Amino acid sequence: MNRIRIAVVGLGKIARDQHLPALAANHAFELVAVASPNHRLDGVPNFPTLNELIDTIPSVDAVSICTPPQVRYDIARYALARGKHVMIEKPPGATLSEVASLGEIAERHRVSLFASWHSRAASGVEPARAWLAPRAIRIAHIHWKEDVRVWHPGQSWIWRAGGFGVFDPGINALSILTRIMPYEVVLKDAELFYPSNCETPIAANLLLDVHGASVRAEFDFLQTGPQTWDIDVETDEGRLLLSHGGSIMHVNGNSIVVDSDHEYPRLYREFETLVRERRSDVDIAPLRLVADAFLSGRRVNVAPFIE
Ligand code: NAP
Repeated sequence: MNRIRIAVVGLGKIARDQHLPALAANHAFELVAVASPNHRLDGVPNFPTLNELIDTIPSVDAVSICTPPQVRYDIARYALARGKHVMIEKPPGATLSEVASLGEIAERHRVSLFASWHSRAASGVEPARAWLAPRAIRIAHIHWKEDVRVWHPGQSWIWRAGGFGVFDPGINALSILTRIMPYEVVLKDAELFYPSNCETPIAANLLLDVHGASVRAEFDFLQTGPQTWDIDVETDEGRLLLSHGGSIMHVNGNSIVVDSDHEYPRLYREFETLVRERRSDVDIAPLRLVADAFLSGRRVNVAPFIE
């Protein structure tokens, strides 16, 4: 089968850390070009915009969009309308209506749209889903706490409207939660903490409901010392702990899955399948919970954030 000629758009941290290595290791794909306003990649043609890239290399089959969410919609819409398959980083849009529109355009042009959720590809997630399926959930806690200065240095877009603030990592927890729970997850209450100089929250507390069971989530961007990306679920038949962002799974204190990071190689294998089968995978459940939190959450003003 022909290799999929792919272009990467947005040459920032995640593109360099994960997308480029995953593509280099996957022979189903051939990286043919990069589009990024200010950064260049050696060894391939570089363009400041996707429009110029497609005009110059119209034979590109697919585009992987690794930009901040605020600019993603226009880029994805352009690519889909030009008949390119599209994979997008999480979150799939700055708004729900953007994502609905992209799904419609992909369908109209008969190309694949993959709204990827990298945390769902963590090794413990599918085993956790299978373990929870027959059990009754009693209560769950999410602690998703990291140091923004370590993980997002200089990323001013996170603090601007549409950049999600602490929900940028928090939506990863919600992407796992909505995958492993046997029922729909519903937002009941939210408290969002806004630094006086930022347009997005730096911390958030959520109360969620899963078929009558409470899930409390604490997201924090100011965690120093040990970093925590844990989901702890108590059921009628024991306790499940997903830690390290979903890569480690414990049941009743025993390790069941302990794996290193294979998220992005899995995502590209999935994208290949979607492209070959001309299917899309667009699940908005995590984004909907974030939108609900912004829609109904209480705002608390806190001290300015100085990086
Ligand atoms: P980043 O380091 O700030 O990189 C974003 C890149 O997007 C920038 O390098 C910028 O390119 C490019 N860009 C901005 N506007 C553009 C436009 N109009 N057209 C093309 N490129 C444009 O951010 P990041 O950490 O990689 O995050 C990007 C996305 O990946 C976010 O949605 C984030 O949630 C997701 N993600 C990040 C991580 C992580 O660990 N950082 C992990 C998983 C997912 P120039 O530098 O050339 O201007």
